[in-house]
Amino acid sequence: LQRSPNEPEFQQAVHEVLGTISPALEQHPEYVDGGILERIVEPERQIMFRVPWIDDAGKIQVNRGYRIQFSSVLGPYKGGLRFHPSVNLSIIKFLGFEQIFKNALTGQGIGGAKGGSDFDPHGRSDGEIMRFCQSFMSELYRHLGEHTDVPAGDIGVGAREIGYLFGSYRKITNRHESGMFTGKGTGWGGAEVRTEATGYGAVFFAQEMLAVHNETFAGKRVGISGSGNVAIYAIQKATQLGATAVTASDSSGYVVDDAGIDLDLLRQIKEVERARIVEYAKRRPSARFVEGGSVWDVPVDIAVPSATQNEVSLADAEALVANGVRAVSEGANMPCVPDAVAAFQNAGVLFAPGKAANAGGVATSALEMSQNASRQRWTFGDSENKLREIMRDIHTAAFDAAEKYGVPGDYVAGANIAGFQRVAAAMLAQGVI
Ligand code: NDP
Repeated sequence: LQRSPNEPEFQQAVHEVLGTISPALEQHPEYVDGGILERIVEPERQIMFRVPWIDDAGKIQVNRGYRIQFSSVLGPYKGGLRFHPSVNLSIIKFLGFEQIFKNALTGQGIGGAKGGSDFDPHGRSDGEIMRFCQSFMSELYRHLGEHTDVPAGDIGVGAREIGYLFGSYRKITNRHESGMFTGKGTGWGGAEVRTEATGYGAVFFAQEMLAVHNETFAGKRVGISGSGNVAIYAIQKATQLGATAVTASDSSGYVVDDAGIDLDLLRQIKEVERARIVEYAKRRPSARFVEGGSVWDVPVDIAVPSATQNEVSLADAEALVANGVRAVSEGANMPCVPDAVAAFQNAGVLFAPGKAANAGGVATSALEMSQNASRQRWTFGDSENKLREIMRDIHTAAFDAAEKYGVPGDYVAGANIAGFQRVAAAMLAQGVI
């Protein structure tokens, strides 16, 4: 970590993992002797590159592109691309590091990576987005491939961007290599349920935690942050399970709708019009918009933070606890600051860390890769059943590891230990490389 002194998000992610796996290290001195810890915090390869493009006014713009190929010990590098102005090396490394263990937890044979750019898609025309994606791929393509590195979407990279990125790769390489990208449109190699998978998966994980205590979603109030891919489908699944999803947000503020979020309206505003969340309250009499402020002030039984890292502060966690929150399932990556996680755990709130709770997206991406390789297409129902089964298995792995290593009910430690052990065992078997 001395090599990464100015990378706070990366340091936070590493401390979270290393701070919880000591029970496993004590029982397995071979992990320490084998240099697993020293090796695992250093990415196998880090790619940074210039992304020049021309905006609609004819002006040359320059962004920075990243792909951090962290670990391929379990399979080809796999992880999303993020386009957001906050993107920097620390954020991409934290996401790539998390991805190693998340992907291991899925049991699907995929390595860990992450990438993206500090490009801000907000307010850009379709033409600008396309030209940016083409420039980005004109460098990144040489590092990708279905057996090498398989990206997907993340913040700011949805169906539109994946289309332009895939099209660009196909043109440059003269290969229609379906398995080199996941999250594709279902008409051209994409898998059913991939779009829904992360949000659905985060709700399925919470369902599993509640089931241990004979509780369900039925009749519960659910608070969700964000209004992007993860948030929208978390709202949909929670509603299907009989809960009332009462909030959604973006970086301008949040809406509260005690009648339950109208998903068609939210999707129209966010996916079709690409407008701000305030529009929802303008068109929905039961809703109100709160500019700025914290969405976590709204009383809920279950919280699914689904926007971005470090969005739930200690004060937010205390407010949620004071309002009687029962379960928190991280749809986003590392949305809760460490003190917030501790506050939930100390108050006996069921807490699911992102690397377990939001693994449904990448797990379904692995299913997309399988379908591409075998030229099969599974139905929506079969794919959703498989996702539910995978989330159940991840819950079991985290739950059992926590029991086995003396921290029952601690899903943070359980997920870290279970994921780490799979990676460490493979690293030992494959030698010092
Ligand atoms: P989207 O771009 O679809 O949506 C992101 C949402 O979060 C938007 O509503 C956005 O609002 C809001 N948001 C982003 N940054 C901030 C910020 N700094 N402050 C406040 N709000 C913010 O992204 P996704 O839904 O795909 O991703 C959300 C989270 O889930 C991320 O942490 C991502 O890493 C994680 N994740 C996603 C997976 C996937 O399959 N998509 C898989 C696993 C994890 P605004 O438009 O105003 O920026």
